[in-house]
Amino acid sequence: MGTYVVIGAGLAGAATAWHLAGRGHEVTVLERSVPANGEGSSHGSARILRYGYPDPFYVRLVVEARAEWDGLERLSGERLISGTGSLDFGAGRDPAALAALFEEAGVEHELLTSADATERWPGFRFGSDVDGDSGVLWHPAAGVIDPEAAVSAMLRLARADGARVETGWPVAAVERAGAGHRVLAADGRREEAEKVVVTAGGWLPGLLGALPLPRAFLDALPPIQVMEENAYHFPYRDGAGEAWPTFIHKDAGMLVYGLPGGRDAALPDGRTGLKIAEYNGGRPIRSAAARTGRIDPANRRRITGYVRRTLPGLVPEPYAETTCLFTNTPTEDFVIDGVGGVTVASPCSGHGAKFAPLLGRIIADAASGERPAPEPFRVA
Ligand SMILES: Cc1cc2nc3c(=O)[nH]c(=O)nc-3n(C[C@H](O)[C@H](O)[C@H](O)COP(=O)(O)OP(=O)(O)OC[C@H]3O[C@@H](n4cnc5c(N)ncnc54)[C@H](O)[C@@H]3O)c2cc1C
Repeated sequence: MGTYVVIGAGLAGAATAWHLAGRGHEVTVLERSVPANGEGSSHGSARILRYGYPDPFYVRLVVEARAEWDGLERLSGERLISGTGSLDFGAGRDPAALAALFEEAGVEHELLTSADATERWPGFRFGSDVDGDSGVLWHPAAGVIDPEAAVSAMLRLARADGARVETGWPVAAVERAGAGHRVLAADGRREEAEKVVVTAGGWLPGLLGALPLPRAFLDALPPIQVMEENAYHFPYRDGAGEAWPTFIHKDAGMLVYGLPGGRDAALPDGRTGLKIAEYNGGRPIRSAAARTGRIDPANRRRITGYVRRTLPGLVPEPYAETTCLFTNTPTEDFVIDGVGGVTVASPCSGHGAKFAPLLGRIIADAASGERPAPEPFRVA
């Protein structure tokens, strides 16, 4: 059995620690703040689990990930996903092409006309797209993940298998020490381990230069761009809103997603609303440390206008707003690869949450040398 340090306790780090500890390895998780903290990407109560991807590789990956989520829910005894179903619409989303991929992968779905979909979900105005009416795809297996609960469940299971989770432990550098590694904090604290897994989210660009990775590996990494994204919560007109599905709408180059916002933001009377954001509608920043927490007023106007045009079931005035971090690669593929006992995992690009427990398995396989990550995640 090996010894591992996992840097970062977001969804990726928690899932990796859970899988490594479950295999009998000695695992220490070092987290600069607290698990699933609000400065990273895995905080709050709401991420979409949807199967709609234009690439069959990812559709299959969601099917596999769902089985891992079911296993995690069973093991932890917690409900981590609420079923909502999901709608895909807009010519840019190509609902018919997604339906063909669902057919191949055995994902239950219905392809509806915009008129039929409007009757069923009157809170939406379908079919008024600039790019024409391309119908609406419904898949009932989609849902909303509670990322904070998932992180804490996976860390609890990791601890039960002997993992140690250190909070307030910012890793400043990793160096080689004999056949293994020494992980250093700026205040002189240190940890030794044979292998190191870096799951540092939006802090990765700032940490890469302090890792003992060969120049050739660093040069082959895809460029990693951190985005400070904007998200808004809108009230339901009818007050309730439990039946709202998640959705992805792409038209005229604008990709918008929405989901029941859960406990992330509540109205003064305790009711919650729909969380809506433009995918990659934020601004690029150097690294997580450069985050401002400021909403872009132009983005707020774009989204409010969008809600007014497309979602008549919502009051077009956000009652809460927030920023958060995407850590993007140009292709939106994840990075999971390493060399010499240091594995770098950057499974974000704004869509990594739904795969978390499966990614933990894939990262643990790659880090332990049992199996390399799937080809799209490997560094050339
Ligand atoms: C607003 C928003 C909406 C999203 N929506 C969806 C969605 O609907 N569906 C979906 O599938 N995905 C979604 N995602 C993406 C998903 O949430 C991310 O893929 C996932 O949270 C990434 O997790 P992570 O562990 O890689 O990063 P993080 O959660 O950021 O974790 C990294 C951790 O590392 C710690 N850390 C960093 N540097 C150090 C250091 N030097 N030493 C110690 N610790 C360190 C940080 O404090 C942090 O806790 C969304 C993301 C955001 C932000």
